[in-house]
Amino acid sequence: MQKVDIAIIGGGPAGAAAAIRAARQGASVIVFEKGPHGRDKVCGDGLTPRAVGALRELEIDMADAHRIRGLRMIAGKTTRELDWPTTGRFPNHGAVWPRRRLDKALIDAAAAAGAEIRFESEALPVLDGDRVVGVEVRPTSDERVPTGAAERIAADLTIVAAGPPGQVARMLGATRVDGETFGLAIRSYAETPRHGDEHLEAMLSLEDENGTAVPGYGWMFPAGDGTVNIGVGALSTMKGFKKLNLNTMLDSYRRVVEPDWEIGPNLERPRAWRLPMSTQKRVGPGWVAIGDAAGLVNPMNGEGIDYGLESGMLAADLFIDDPATVIERYDAEVGERFDAFLRTGRRFSFLIGHPWILKNGLRFSVSTESIANITLAVMGNLVDNETPGAAGRVMWLADKGLGLADPLLRKTRAAA
Ligand SMILES: Cc1cc2nc3c(=O)[nH]c(=O)nc-3n(C[C@H](O)[C@H](O)[C@H](O)COP(=O)(O)OP(=O)(O)OC[C@H]3O[C@@H](n4cnc5c(N)ncnc54)[C@H](O)[C@@H]3O)c2cc1C
Repeated sequence: MQKVDIAIIGGGPAGAAAAIRAARQGASVIVFEKGPHGRDKVCGDGLTPRAVGALRELEIDMADAHRIRGLRMIAGKTTRELDWPTTGRFPNHGAVWPRRRLDKALIDAAAAAGAEIRFESEALPVLDGDRVVGVEVRPTSDERVPTGAAERIAADLTIVAAGPPGQVARMLGATRVDGETFGLAIRSYAETPRHGDEHLEAMLSLEDENGTAVPGYGWMFPAGDGTVNIGVGALSTMKGFKKLNLNTMLDSYRRVVEPDWEIGPNLERPRAWRLPMSTQKRVGPGWVAIGDAAGLVNPMNGEGIDYGLESGMLAADLFIDDPATVIERYDAEVGERFDAFLRTGRRFSFLIGHPWILKNGLRFSVSTESIANITLAVMGNLVDNETPGAAGRVMWLADKGLGLADPLLRKTRAAA
């Protein structure tokens, strides 16, 4: 039986980041990806400055990505276009990088670092009692359905980077926490003469077909290659979420942005996917979960690529440092880095699930330049509970205030 230091289930940004980092430091790494080389992923393709910082840390050449200077926020009749601030912590620009190309660049970097990559291979954890001791792998067909005989591979650490919870998560008890927030979003691409725009555009005042305010946003993310990524996303805390028709919402958003962006027809059928924002467990004996598999998506902007990259690097570094303590230290360090901020985000999502609060909050969020700058910092993922300055103070206050209000917010949740 083949034996490796680290087996990684999933070859998205999180799995690739872990593989790059561990292989560069001399670990034997194998990555299993259900899809083919160059597979696509339903996404907005937006990279915040924080994500660009993480890609830099991985030494990924970003010449193929479209550079973004800031964010244009639209709420009702107000539009504010702001550049990302220059901070000591993150670069002052973001990017749009279509996932087919971004993910390929990352997984190719993992291969170049010495990791073995097996595409069209579905891997499931092998359990010995409650301990994961490696994976069982089967080749997949074009539809990613497992075919052929299974092969077992032993690993000291199995990293679950399989995206939103599916079979692997069910086997490990790492599914979403019932009643917690999650997101759904849909996207397509269209041609536009404005593909070279240097700002992401987010329309914060979305409504469903009944005119109810939707906690979420519509986006136009110009890709610099003749196309724009167009999409809408919503949080599960809104009333009527289960009946929300994302295709209809995308169609009406498209009608709103069509004149300004002069977009052509959809270049592909709009596709929707989940954004997980919680997990019951992110570690267990022999395994850790990273990226979406660990519920690491920001409820305030739907960003998950950065967290995937950061958590992947962290898991790899801790394994290299000491394989005996990686599980406990990873759990603690992910907690320290992300838990408080993401918890604030989830609480916030219950608040804006109430249409009245959302409508008035939106007006406020872009009402003055300084308040809009705080909204920018939140939307751009430039702020967390440790950020200094006004945005950091607002975040700190929000954490305390929303913490107190949390039981009430959940009890009076708008969702139906
Ligand atoms: C519509 C939409 C728009 C979004 N827009 C943005 C955005 O603009 N910016 C942003 O930062 N984030 C965005 N996100 C979130 C972002 O796409 C995810 O957070 C990100 O892809 C997480 O990366 P990951 O590596 O954890 O998971 P994934 O990218 O989902 O990769 C997981 C991989 O694991 C593979 N896999 C699953 N199970 C197995 C198995 N058993 N064996 C082998 N392989 C397996 C899958 O095929 C997949 O390739 C968006 C999400 C959606 C749905």
